[in-house]
Amino acid sequence: MRLILLFGALFMSLAAPASATSEKVAEPGWSLVIHGGAGVIERSRISPETDAAVRAALARALEAGSSVLSNGGDAMDAVQAAIIVLEDDPNFNAGHGAVFTYEGTNELDAAVMDGAERKAGAIARASATKNPILLARKVMEESPHVLLSGEGADRFSAEQGLDQVDNSYFATPERKRQLEELKAKKVGWFDVDLKYGTVGAVARDTKGNVAAGTSTGGLTGKRYGRIGDSPLIGAGTYADNRSCAISATGAGEFFIRVGVAHEICTRIRMKAEARAEFLVQEAARGGRTLDAANQQDLLASALSADEVQSIADAVIGEMGALGGSGGIIYLTPWGHQGYSFDTPGMYRGMASSDGTSSVAVYGDE
Ligand code: ASP
Repeated sequence: MRLILLFGALFMSLAAPASATSEKVAEPGWSLVIHGGAGVIERSRISPETDAAVRAALARALEAGSSVLSNGGDAMDAVQAAIIVLEDDPNFNAGHGAVFTYEGTNELDAAVMDGAERKAGAIARASATKNPILLARKVMEESPHVLLSGEGADRFSAEQGLDQVDNSYFATPERKRQLEELKAKKVGWFDVDLKYGTVGAVARDTKGNVAAGTSTGGLTGKRYGRIGDSPLIGAGTYADNRSCAISATGAGEFFIRVGVAHEICTRIRMKAEARAEFLVQEAARGGRTLDAANQQDLLASALSADEVQSIADAVIGEMGALGGSGGIIYLTPWGHQGYSFDTPGMYRGMASSDGTSSVAVYGDE
């Protein structure tokens, strides 16, 4: 680690742009970041009871994921553990509590990605798997495919022995009311005023691997077999040990068009690699040769926390400029982690091996 700091200092003195800060990046132990959706989440619109219930659920999800990571478990297992808690909680638009389609059914989308080998699994329009995130993982681990949909996804789920439920298991009175409200307003497609309640998690384990997962019911009133960004690898979900892990929530169509999750990871990777390369050449000019381990250390210290945050904010800004809204959670293999969203609020939480743990709801927290 001293080496990392040394090269970090070297880099800061040689090549840092004026806007970069030397803000300390967390020591890369384990880390977990979760979300339960972004949107028009304002104090005036959320009852104290919902506020408390959401915070309690986020805290439980953090606990579930943290206990995997603190016991030396894998990032993917932590992502899964955190998401199951949120899928089971009716306050979030995933699993039990998913939003309704226009026809009054529930169609579930989910994805997972493992940053070590960039393995991924996803499902769209599943209707009977109690915990859709488990089905996405089965696709990753037990099939040669990345994305299964509809009736085929349901059949694969049953074959894999996952818990099956009647479609009515996902329904809640509040989601029914939201569908009726949307229909009464006679808005053309879906109501952009409603908050997005998709859930997601990203984790880094003590081996330095990152993973991401996202689970959702999609958007209230979706029709014609609409599929959003959540199960699309690169749009709403992405993980790559060379850069970052991302899970998104928001107006899916815009996240798909920008390829938000992959775009953020690519920008981080290219910037980190370019910086590391610069320092290798700089060292060579000084007559020193850096071995592979040194070069890894260079990568780890190449970007400041502010620079990673700026990349995430820039991509969210581009998505917003197209007319969308929403947010993402991120973390890197090197100890950066955070959120970026352009909505009034985002249900979110973060925990790390340094003992910190926090949940937040509104934008000003
Ligand atoms: N992104 C999801 C979708 O478009 C919705 C959400 O975030 O709640 O399906």
